[in-house]
Amino acid sequence: MNSSDPQRFRPADIDPAEVKALIERVRGPVLTPEDEGYDTERAGYQLARQHRPDLVVGATGTADVRAAVEFARSHALPVAVQGTGHASAGVAGEGGVLINTTRMTGVRVNLEANTAWVAAGTRWDEVIHEAAPAGLAPLSGSYPGLAVVSYTLAGGLSLLSRRYGYAADHVRSIDVVTADGQLRHVTEESYPDLFWGLRGGRDNFGVVTGIEIDLVPITTLYGGSLQFPGELAAEVFDTYLRWTATVPDEMSSSIMQMSYPDIPAFPEALRGRQAVHVRIAYAADVLDAAENLVEPLRALGPMSDTLGELPYTEAGSIYADPPFPGFIEASTTLLGELDTAAVRAILDLAPPHASLPHIFELRHLGGRLALPPAVANAVGNRDARYLFNVVSRLERADITEIRPAHKRMLEALVPWSTGGRLLNFMNGEDAAKEVRSAYDPKDYQRLTEIKAVYDPDNTFRLNHNIPPANTGNPTSA
Ligand SMILES: Cc1cc2nc3c(=O)[nH]c(=O)nc-3n(C[C@H](O)[C@H](O)[C@H](O)COP(=O)(O)OP(=O)(O)OC[C@H]3O[C@@H](n4cnc5c(N)ncnc54)[C@H](O)[C@@H]3O)c2cc1C
Repeated sequence: MNSSDPQRFRPADIDPAEVKALIERVRGPVLTPEDEGYDTERAGYQLARQHRPDLVVGATGTADVRAAVEFARSHALPVAVQGTGHASAGVAGEGGVLINTTRMTGVRVNLEANTAWVAAGTRWDEVIHEAAPAGLAPLSGSYPGLAVVSYTLAGGLSLLSRRYGYAADHVRSIDVVTADGQLRHVTEESYPDLFWGLRGGRDNFGVVTGIEIDLVPITTLYGGSLQFPGELAAEVFDTYLRWTATVPDEMSSSIMQMSYPDIPAFPEALRGRQAVHVRIAYAADVLDAAENLVEPLRALGPMSDTLGELPYTEAGSIYADPPFPGFIEASTTLLGELDTAAVRAILDLAPPHASLPHIFELRHLGGRLALPPAVANAVGNRDARYLFNVVSRLERADITEIRPAHKRMLEALVPWSTGGRLLNFMNGEDAAKEVRSAYDPKDYQRLTEIKAVYDPDNTFRLNHNIPPANTGNPTSA
């Protein structure tokens, strides 16, 4: 979808004089669909579906964010927010005001408290770089090119999470501009309800301009990946599942099968074939046990093995997620304990038996993720044992084939599914409808009540929306 598709999108009729007044108030760019630069300003990593706002504001700081929110409110327009734009598929908005935070970067490490204050548009690689000289690391995920704020406030499944819990469990304070245009410094003491709800409820209560997060004493991991030929998939998946039942909480890992396209961008041995990757991030204080721990996987005879000690600053090499934007369709579910029958259920519906999906993966959960955090928050589904993701690329297949293929896989996994989802991985066509499944039912109800206090008109609705509890308002639950 793009701005040259006038059938699908008619910008709201906003008085140009009022837009001019906003331009004068805001330091960053303010662009309408007619303006040059509009498409670049609204673009994110996910190309399958992008926001198409009436107005996009490239915020440079809190004052710009406040101006944009106040403008939206005074025109009864909804507000969307975008960091690095990895998650827009399924929830991208048509119309309204889009606030792009990518200019709002900055990290301040506090060595006495082992924390970092991070501005809204900052990516993990910046925090990792600033924390490393002090022997510290943030709870970043597989791809360090993601923005910190949305990842963290949606939960944040880190390479270190089985040892430390979700990134959202390690937030000290949050600066947020709420729907009334006020900047609030939110802590456990100042706004207990909002502090609880923002950590898990993410963008439903306002635009976050910065957060203060814990750093942990990690400098070096034992990690990397083992790559196996697709022909060994059943054996590798079975062994992997048995192995995850035995590993300590310091061991985080995942297993993925990928179908490689037959193009020169990939090594000849992989082109047009399937490979299974096991990704490892072992984060113990002493790494001596690592080689013994991974032995059962190595014994399967990988065709490539990059396991070894690596500084946390290079942790992005473990998953080596592609840094360039793409047309991606993804679906997800959380799973409980798995057995051989679950492996068969997945593999029977995957290449080479079927042409889709292109990628599917299991990430091992449990450990500290299964325990409540020191300060309660809204992140749900802590009982899940594995995260299942299935991903296909629209450059390589038709969406009308991809969706049924993903659905078939999720249906086959129903016997093992907990019915829950992690907000950060909800990107497919049903993302907007699936929001409840990210929360425990009582917590979802509480989120709607907090929403009714801080955003009664549902100004922040171009997202994984939690509507305000029924207050008689037309947009409420
Ligand atoms: C390659 C890849 C690897 C990934 N790996 C992991 C992983 O290991 N662990 C994990 O947990 N997740 C992972 N994810 C998922 C990722 O965390 C989410 O997609 C996340 O939302 C991406 O952040 P973003 O800034 O790009 O999001 P955007 O698409 O920019 O925004 C996502 C949502 O966050 C909201 N938002 C953004 N900024 C703000 C703000 N300042 N204030 C309020 N709301 C805001 C927006 O309203 C929007 O709805 C991965 C995704 C990809 C594509």
